[in-house]
Amino acid sequence: MKTKVCERSINWMLVVALITMPMLVLAQGTKIPLQKNKYTVEQDVQLGRQAAVEYEKAFQTLPENSDADNYLESLGRQLVAAIPREYQNPAFRFDFDVINARDLNASALPGGPMYVNRGMVEAAANEGELAGVMAHEISHVVLRHGTANATRGQSPKYQLPALGGAILGAIIGGNLGGLISQGTQTGIGIYLLKYSRDYEREADVLGAQIMARAGYDPLDMAGMFQTIQKEGGGSSMVEWLSSHPDPGKRSERIQQEATKLRVNRAAARHNTEEFNRVKESLRRMAPAPTMQQMAEKYTASQQGGTTQYPSDSRIEQSVQQPSSTYRSYTGGNLFAVNVPDNWEQFEAQNAVTFAPRGAYGTYQGQPVFTHGMIVGLVNPQTQNLEEASDRFVGSLLQNNGYLQPQGRYQRTRIDRRVALGLALVGRSPITGQTEVVRVYSAMLQNGLLFYVIQVVPQNQSGRYNRAFSNAIRSIRING
Ligand SMILES: [Zn+2]
Repeated sequence: MKTKVCERSINWMLVVALITMPMLVLAQGTKIPLQKNKYTVEQDVQLGRQAAVEYEKAFQTLPENSDADNYLESLGRQLVAAIPREYQNPAFRFDFDVINARDLNASALPGGPMYVNRGMVEAAANEGELAGVMAHEISHVVLRHGTANATRGQSPKYQLPALGGAILGAIIGGNLGGLISQGTQTGIGIYLLKYSRDYEREADVLGAQIMARAGYDPLDMAGMFQTIQKEGGGSSMVEWLSSHPDPGKRSERIQQEATKLRVNRAAARHNTEEFNRVKESLRRMAPAPTMQQMAEKYTASQQGGTTQYPSDSRIEQSVQQPSSTYRSYTGGNLFAVNVPDNWEQFEAQNAVTFAPRGAYGTYQGQPVFTHGMIVGLVNPQTQNLEEASDRFVGSLLQNNGYLQPQGRYQRTRIDRRVALGLALVGRSPITGQTEVVRVYSAMLQNGLLFYVIQVVPQNQSGRYNRAFSNAIRSIRING
């Protein structure tokens, strides 16, 4: 009897030791100074929440309080509790959800909402690997990389402007025609936030510290990156790599940090029964769709947003030159514009596309056009013209990955208002030719951004310049 009590108390002490001292860490880790950031932590939280509402409309999460959801939430809590004190802030609002998507992806929004794809959980070899990718994402949140990127990225030259709707690490495809519904009109604002390599290094180092402090082996984080890389092998299922570029020497850096922390790796937790159980149950579920499929479905559900071309329309090699006679088009009572009279028009909810026959059609299920112009309005959720234009251009680039901004914004005027113009150039996957896209944007008093997008293959741009400049000059805006 006595012996038993004794054993019991010893076991109990072990349990207490495990719970209260998961510290395998004996030393301080590398200090990471915060990047320059013009946003407050509260703004991070607010921006992330706004984005989360949109994100969850597009990408279905597994039900609240399902096994997988509860499991991820509790794993997330453990990691959050292990954030080194100097990076903690009570304003952060961490929240963990499983997205029912097949892709290997995990995304974190500013301020704390985090999503791990079902595909990522299924691919992880053990709980340590899953904890690894989560610790990495948590690090992006606490180091505030989303808004640091926005602070850094005032120029449209920078990868992509981050902003309210910045979704860290999500991607949806599409082409120019599709952007109206996807990027702008619905305001879904799913921008691929591509972290810079220095952000990646920081997230790896802090992630290693969080891992160790939570009782995991930091090397399992490196293991997850290898799993992602391996599953990658050119597969489009790996979205994570496109937003978290490999800074090189990942494993070595994590190993170094573990050494610096003097981590007792032998005592680290690698796996749990619960992880195995959740992973098995996810594997037994019906196959998950891809994020792309979800995004397309969401877009289609936002009726009126997508430009509809007649089903017999198709892209042709050569199209009619712009007529030298013009007709006037009036968009509600909002604006008027003159366009060549051989351009047809296709109205969507908040935009109209003008294009000659043969220049519009469908490509990979998306409405696209190769010559012509879109005029539209979008709610940019800011009154600052440059910021609004950054957001808009960001969504264009997101949906048209082949385009690159050329130089900086040019100041110009549309109907006596200050406007910004920017050229984007790239090889069109549709025509195989270099395409020139000119984007103009102007702020309206009602808070909307008025924009014009002009598209032409570079080798025909000479023939379109007059039509394009006439159109811009003819614009009259009411608002
Ligand atoms: Zn990252």
